[in-house]
Amino acid sequence: MVILLADAFATDLPDRLKAFGDLTSDMNRLPEAEIIIVRSKTKVDKAMIDKAPKLKYIIRGGVGVDTIDVAYAASKNVKVDNTPEASSLAVAELAFALMIAMPCNVAEADASMKQGKWLKKEMERVELHGKTIGFVGIGRIAREVAIRAKVFGMNVIAYDKYVAASDVATMTTFDEVLAKSDYISLHTPLTDETRGMINAAAISKMKKGARVINTARGQLVVDADVAAALRDGRLGGYAADVYDKEPPEGSALLTAPKTVLTPHIGASTAENLLRLGDCIVERVKAFAK
Ligand code: NAD
Repeated sequence: MVILLADAFATDLPDRLKAFGDLTSDMNRLPEAEIIIVRSKTKVDKAMIDKAPKLKYIIRGGVGVDTIDVAYAASKNVKVDNTPEASSLAVAELAFALMIAMPCNVAEADASMKQGKWLKKEMERVELHGKTIGFVGIGRIAREVAIRAKVFGMNVIAYDKYVAASDVATMTTFDEVLAKSDYISLHTPLTDETRGMINAAAISKMKKGARVINTARGQLVVDADVAAALRDGRLGGYAADVYDKEPPEGSALLTAPKTVLTPHIGASTAENLLRLGDCIVERVKAFAK
């Protein structure tokens, strides 16, 4: 059985997978592959599936299968899996870092220091304590962020179309999350329902100066609307790890004020790469049986 490891994982994963078949990372061997293992870099589209007539199983190391043409894979009897249990802590810590970086002016202060400036008076801060964080989607990652937000003395509310109750957040409507939150953290998958949900209309319902954190998917927000709201002060900040297009060349967000941007590193902790490896080995082992 040829196992094609298309993207980079923990350095020990190739050796661990060799026990289950002929392991390769040579994309020219796609036609022989029965299992393809990807992270978010390799998009498994119709064309790729067509080039792999022996393919039986696609494993995405990470959360979400929006980088895979799941319907086409199903039509070819190819099973699709991901490893949603692995990444929550890693992404939650980054979401929290992005949130706290905004009121603490971490990015601006650091840049100004390196330009030889001493902006002590200009860098007035506000605290997270006593503020409201509203989650859109209260799944695995949001739950971990919520636990941390509570420790910081924040009020935690959430909207989730498919979850009615939560042990870490007071559930409410989407509009109330928009209206009441000082910080809005996005944690839904990218679907037809969620694409573009943070647009000019949604921003107009937010508190003036609200800040948005997006570690979920870039296409949940309309970049141009967010950039315009940052410029006119309706939004007080936008911190993101994910983008409509990655890298986000030409995005309005790159030149907008009050942003904190990271290059899709939410899942990229040393610990998480090891957890992803464990999850993938488990799945390949079960499939081989
Ligand atoms: P999860 O499945 O545990 O939680 C997602 C939640 O969103 C669920 O509770 C679901 O009911 C809710 N939801 C779905 N559709 C909705 C809608 N229309 N409106 C409101 N809520 C809706 O997923 P998770 O593990 O918490 O991950 C969340 C997202 O984070 C993933 O889908 C992925 O896009 C993203 N992610 C990003 C990184 C990164 O590196 N930045 C890493 C992992 C995951």
